[in-house]
Amino acid sequence: MNSGSRKKADYIPTLSENRDKKFRNVLSKRQPDLTVVMENIHDPHNIFAIMRTCDAVGIMEIYIINTQGPRKKAAGKHSSSSANKWVTAHHFTSVEECVKALKEKNFRILATHLASDAKSLYDVNLTEKVALVFGNEKDGVSEELLPYADGNIIIPMVGQIQSLNVSVATAVSLYEALRQRTAAGHYDASKLSEAETEEIYTSWAKKS
Ligand code: SAM
Repeated sequence: MNSGSRKKADYIPTLSENRDKKFRNVLSKRQPDLTVVMENIHDPHNIFAIMRTCDAVGIMEIYIINTQGPRKKAAGKHSSSSANKWVTAHHFTSVEECVKALKEKNFRILATHLASDAKSLYDVNLTEKVALVFGNEKDGVSEELLPYADGNIIIPMVGQIQSLNVSVATAVSLYEALRQRTAAGHYDASKLSEAETEEIYTSWAKKS
């Protein structure tokens, strides 16, 4: 790296008072103990919509498994594409590697497999450290991933159609998590250490 590019990388812009307040407020509500796993979700519009909801409920990091090769690129510019600035995505090409990463961080893994023995979303404790796994638009959560799940949840449906769009299912589930976590006071005090807050603040300031 030459001195010019080093200077550019080291430079931290000074944020306006409003922006500084906004960043610190958002960081104080981040939920490092809640995450989403997207397994072989192909439609970029679904992926970006899910990331946008993750940011909205305070998710910091998500896990993306793609065992099926390159996915199609989104046409045009999305309004939700900026969500990937604020939510870090970890990418995996193997289910096993992703599960290993989640288990190392002590996440309980809950699949959303559309089976009759699944527990209702509304009967599950989402205030625990939990990773919610959402499956492919056509085939759902894979048979490969299911044995690793600690539980299986379903959003109740009483209509003619058997499943929701995956980004809708993610939003419904994450907003139930937000409801439970709000009631339990999870958004009242920051879950990040000062050092973590400053590190993320700096990286956001550089991107803003
Ligand atoms: N035929 C697929 C199946 O049997 O799983 C349907 C997949 S659905 C269109 C895509 C994903 O959205 C599912 O894998 C699941 O993650 C989520 N999903 C859709 N409806 C859901 C529901 N009622 N409860 C929980 N998750 C749901």
